[in-house]
Amino acid sequence: MKRLSDIGTIRDILSRHGFTFSKALGQNFLVNPSVCPRMAEASGASAGVGVLEIGPGIGVLTNELCQLADKVVAVELDKRLLPVLDETLAEYDNVKIIRADVLELDLNRLIAEEFPGLRVVVCANLPYYITSPVIMKLLEDRLPVQAITVMVQKEAAQRICAPVGSRESGAVTVSVNYYAEPHLLFGVSAGSFMPAPKVDSAVIRLEVLPQPPVQCSEAAFFRVVKAAFLQRRKVIANSLSAGLGLDKAAVADLLTRAGVPQNARAEQLTLDDFASIANQLTGGQHE
Ligand code: SAM
Repeated sequence: MKRLSDIGTIRDILSRHGFTFSKALGQNFLVNPSVCPRMAEASGASAGVGVLEIGPGIGVLTNELCQLADKVVAVELDKRLLPVLDETLAEYDNVKIIRADVLELDLNRLIAEEFPGLRVVVCANLPYYITSPVIMKLLEDRLPVQAITVMVQKEAAQRICAPVGSRESGAVTVSVNYYAEPHLLFGVSAGSFMPAPKVDSAVIRLEVLPQPPVQCSEAAFFRVVKAAFLQRRKVIANSLSAGLGLDKAAVADLLTRAGVPQNARAEQLTLDDFASIANQLTGGQHE
């Protein structure tokens, strides 16, 4: 079979199927032959492993995953790609394509049904218009997966993988670190895609933690994080007062009890700081 990541082969397949790219669905397909094997390898796809892929496109990455893993289940929203995938994945009997919007799927159920007895990882070149919602769904749904290896915009990768408490950190950094340990693996230039997007990309790997690194009410933790970063340049006392709808005196008392300086900024706080504030907010109740 011809190399699927070869640009000539891809053009030929797409033109035979009369396929036109949908910008709205974030369709930038990988055409750099070195990226998919590297990404598939980094994802942990191997014997005894089931891989959940999101957005297989024409199946370039899927192809690599099928060669390494016991089983691959790929969720694709665009039904025009189904006949293309039938052709490009014809040689594999360990792959299943599910036509659905990943944000609407019950992924815990899918994993239980499709991967019994297998260790599970996620590997995807994500549609960038839904990067954060997809990553947060994968983490919040508490899926029984070991790691999530995804291609995202370079800026999103840097933000997610920034150290918590650093200038580059944001709400997404703190949120991801509540569930996982993020690692920035390697950059991918815009020219590696067809059509080429305006921005560069990067592959990140999220090692899913068995439990959160801090103990507090999850709901309160995320309420505090959201409120704190709503006005990230303001001091924490002001952003929490606005974001939590509490008066200044109540917030001052909350921060004192949590041991967090009134004039700190959200980006300077650690996970423990956010958890302490959450604990003071709920009186130590963890549910
Ligand atoms: N994996 C392919 C590659 O690397 O060449 C394609 C990646 S492309 C950036 C994103 C893919 O996600 C497209 O195939 C697009 O149709 C699909 N997609 C977009 N929104 C989706 C959604 N909500 N659920 C599932 N797939 C989606």
